[in-house]
Amino acid sequence: MPVASLNLASLPAFRNEPYADFSRPGNRAAMEAALAQVRAEFGTEYPLVIGGERIETGDQLRSLNPSRPDEVVGVHHKATAELAVKAVESAFAFFPEWSRTTAAARVAMLFRAAEILRRRKMEFNAWLAVEAGKTWPEAEGEVAEAIDFCEYYARQMLRFSTPEAPVQLPGEKGQMIYIPLGVGVVIPPWNFALAILAGMATAALVAGNTVIIKPSSDTPTIAQKFAEVLLEAGFPARSFSLLTGSGALVGDVLVQHPKTRFISFTGSRDVGLRINELAAKPRKGQIWIRRVVAEMGGKDAIIVDCDTDIERAATGVLQSAFGYQGQKCSACSRAIVDAKIYDEFLELLGKKAAALSVGPTDDPSNDMGPVINAGAKKSILEYIECGKQEGRLVAGGEALEGDGYFIRPTVIADIEATDRLFQEEIFGPVLAVSKARDFDHALELANDSEYGLTGAVYTNDRARIEQAREQFFVGNLYINRKCTGAMVGAHPFGGFNMSGTDSKAGGPDYLLQFLQAKSIAEKID
Ligand code: NAD
Repeated sequence: MPVASLNLASLPAFRNEPYADFSRPGNRAAMEAALAQVRAEFGTEYPLVIGGERIETGDQLRSLNPSRPDEVVGVHHKATAELAVKAVESAFAFFPEWSRTTAAARVAMLFRAAEILRRRKMEFNAWLAVEAGKTWPEAEGEVAEAIDFCEYYARQMLRFSTPEAPVQLPGEKGQMIYIPLGVGVVIPPWNFALAILAGMATAALVAGNTVIIKPSSDTPTIAQKFAEVLLEAGFPARSFSLLTGSGALVGDVLVQHPKTRFISFTGSRDVGLRINELAAKPRKGQIWIRRVVAEMGGKDAIIVDCDTDIERAATGVLQSAFGYQGQKCSACSRAIVDAKIYDEFLELLGKKAAALSVGPTDDPSNDMGPVINAGAKKSILEYIECGKQEGRLVAGGEALEGDGYFIRPTVIADIEATDRLFQEEIFGPVLAVSKARDFDHALELANDSEYGLTGAVYTNDRARIEQAREQFFVGNLYINRKCTGAMVGAHPFGGFNMSGTDSKAGGPDYLLQFLQAKSIAEKID
């Protein structure tokens, strides 16, 4: 479609990208071929990219395959504080030009990015399998989500570029338009190394901002591959920079630079709070209040009521707790189960967890892959030891032999609300199970958290469903389904309390965070 004629009415309605079914031989063969292609690129060296300039610092970080940590997926040059400053200045210099491009032109680029991701879907699946440790279906879901973000935000930008007129006073022509903010720093986590990075970066770019992307040091290769997509889609080289390197080192410089207008962060509570604090202080030469969008951690609970299909609830809890090894911000890490069915539920869940196979993600027969790195493995195993003291081990409880970062899906029962396993985000395949006296008590326990991201309730009782709608304090509530797997457009995503600023990624309001409204009134005689 020609750029000038791009408008919402002429576009097909948004629909979520369908998933490839890996039980079909053609899709399996395509994924095998993509894995072979990606393997052939292992060890490639990638420079930093600052406003189109490719820079090598000589100081390198190696990203590893968490299934086989002796395999180096990519070698990346680390940014310095000076280069972080250069990236902000480069983005600031290009902002006037980029912000004046038409929304339709930027939207056309974003549609092209979606198309390129679709074409390279298996390749991105393979990168996610080897650099982030995703199983094939988890990788497929993530690439589809990245495509969805591009398709959805492109449409939303068209909506914001033709806003509804305000009330018209007699003798005046009134208008309210949305304009971009300026230079944004985009800091994604490793757990959705493509989808969250793509969603945060493209939302800011399509709104007319220039951005500096600081990917996680665990998944920089995926970020490099997405930068290729942006360039091929037509985003100007100067509209973004890709700064690989230590979050702590370059992060502080980017966040505090007086020309940084906003920070779009997704990651842990502690880093999010630090960014929020640093960003709040105006620096010399700064002429705005910096905006911070911070999506942070979770300690998500599923309530299993006594009036429910126990089999269905156990499957939902299992998928929510152990999908991507429990490393989703939305993962269920607390199952709160009515005392009347507690023992029966635990027995079923324990059996299901013990039946899950764990191993390298290039082998599609494994249900679960590795955790992200050696540090995560150590910290998760420490939590498991703590859980064995605080509660009763029902399944798992150990690492697999060998070098890969594999941990068995672990279920620990009889956890109390004051226990560390109940309150702290572990971010691994560890599920705490707690007993509730009744539904009121279950809700009280579920809300006993500083977080408030996702939650689910399994019950057949209509009154309890209504009670949960009202009283379960989370940004994303699910009834009679798992608490992971938010779909762009259908489940705008973001949490309450220490889970963040509730930005609702993949929702109709999301782009507003990267725009400011300007009201114009012209006297007409
Ligand atoms: P993290 O906070 O360790 O890192 C996130 C990003 O911040 C990385 O790119 C990292 O390099 C960077 N960073 C680290 N220190 C920094 C600093 N001082 N200044 C600026 N940037 C810095 O989180 P992680 O381990 O990558 O991701 C897991 C966390 O993310 C979990 O807590 C999870 O719940 C959360 N998460 C939340 C959502 C959500 O939508 N709410 C989604 C995904 C993940």
